[in-house]
Amino acid sequence: MAVPSTKPAVLPQVQEFLDRSHGLFIDGEFRPAAQGGTLSVLDPATGEQIATVAAATAVDVDAAVAAARAAQPGWATLAPSAKADLMWKLGEALEQRAQEFGQLESLDNGKPMGESGALDVPLCASLFKYYAGWITKLEGETMTPAGGLDMHVYTLREPVGVVGAIIPWNFPLLMCGYKLGPALAAGNTVVLKPAEQTPLSALRLAALMAEIGFPAGVVNVITGDGPDAGAPLAAHRDVDKITFTGENATGAKIIQASTGNMKKLTLELGGKSPSLVFADADLDAAVEGTFGAVYFNQGQCCIAGARVFVHSSIRDAFVAKLAERVRQVKLGPGLDADTTMGPLVSAEQRDRVNSLIASGLEQGATAVVGGAPVSDPALADGFYVEPTLFTDVTPDMTIMRQEIFGPVAMVSTFETDEEAIALANDTAFGLASGIWTRDVGRTHRVAKAIRAGVVWVNTYGMFDVAIPYGGFKASGYGKELGREAMEPYLQTKTVWIDLS
Ligand code: ADP
Repeated sequence: MAVPSTKPAVLPQVQEFLDRSHGLFIDGEFRPAAQGGTLSVLDPATGEQIATVAAATAVDVDAAVAAARAAQPGWATLAPSAKADLMWKLGEALEQRAQEFGQLESLDNGKPMGESGALDVPLCASLFKYYAGWITKLEGETMTPAGGLDMHVYTLREPVGVVGAIIPWNFPLLMCGYKLGPALAAGNTVVLKPAEQTPLSALRLAALMAEIGFPAGVVNVITGDGPDAGAPLAAHRDVDKITFTGENATGAKIIQASTGNMKKLTLELGGKSPSLVFADADLDAAVEGTFGAVYFNQGQCCIAGARVFVHSSIRDAFVAKLAERVRQVKLGPGLDADTTMGPLVSAEQRDRVNSLIASGLEQGATAVVGGAPVSDPALADGFYVEPTLFTDVTPDMTIMRQEIFGPVAMVSTFETDEEAIALANDTAFGLASGIWTRDVGRTHRVAKAIRAGVVWVNTYGMFDVAIPYGGFKASGYGKELGREAMEPYLQTKTVWIDLS
């Protein structure tokens, strides 16, 4: 008897979208790149080409920025309730299309549907709804000069103008929401550049925004690679602000490119986050939470809490349970219902992670699980990496210093709280951290001592539209999510009126 396939068919509307020729979205219309270039989009589960998109160059960036500039005053002055209406409708439309966007995202990025359709799309939808709410609540202040001058002084909260949003491939749709939500709510217009590996959901989102009635030019999407499309956007003299999520080396280039017109910047960069498991932790919860902290999204998370420090008294029990959990991972295509871990985004990323795993072995770490390239012939054409759990790691190893962006955990031990804090802080990054303990005093002491933008206690990777998120140290600056994320998209104008 034939075993029924667990693989859902690709939805007709997803297939129809994949089969389109994908232009750049500029001034409300899709058009080919001026120089005619294209990029192939691959399914990471098979390595097969699933779509072709236009490859923008500086000429297209100029056109997109000009469209955004022309549309900005109209968008800023559109009635707040009308803007809020559009944003809310976009959130609702995404909710209704969770399966469609989820499939598209899984095909483009590789992630399981349980993550894309169930988490990424609904969270993106809730971002648009949440920021819709802020649009009607942006107010300046009336102020009294401290020197007792006879002046009427007030502030206006104005948009910065045209925003360039440059985003990565690990959460392609969600990153659109992180950037577009607060940027549009504040009255800016946007030129969005998705990652070259994963341009599809941004293009589908642009089409949806046009269907809903967003005015032409408010959001423009230019697909293309970093040097040809990203760099001219980052350097463009008529762009007022860049919001960027990606790796530190690119962040440094964006800072340099911003100096031409002193652009405002929001940078969400890399991480090397610690997970601290204390002796009094609920062991099963700590194991499950650490598993998620390391392996969620195939480990391709800047917040991955993969430097795992465990109190020596529970080390053996913790490693045994975590190893058992990692062995339960079912590798496979994102669209298969029983897949719990998909492929990495690209062959380049797979090879990079495999070579970091090899460096761990060479430098003396022990692979309790994984440690070798995937051997299953059924997965040979995809960009899969074997989930790996290392022990016997030391702080100087490459795997403990470099961001891996793959499914790899490094477990080592500590004796005292002070040692745990020192190990946690022994990194140039400061994005996130996790603490597993049932001791209230220790929770507060350690949370205060860790130099990172987020501390999760007895949980990991929690996100909410209303709660700010962003890094310390080399992990960047400017918060995302919540009210605080609106700030970098606004500027305060002070008006003085002499009453004498
Ligand atoms: P990764 O190496 O993991 O792909 P990047 O930081 O290079 O991470 O990519 C994040 C985003 O930055 C992508 O959209 C990419 O195209 C873009 N990018 C890469 N190089 C540049 C650059 N020099 N200027 C502007 N954007 C760039």
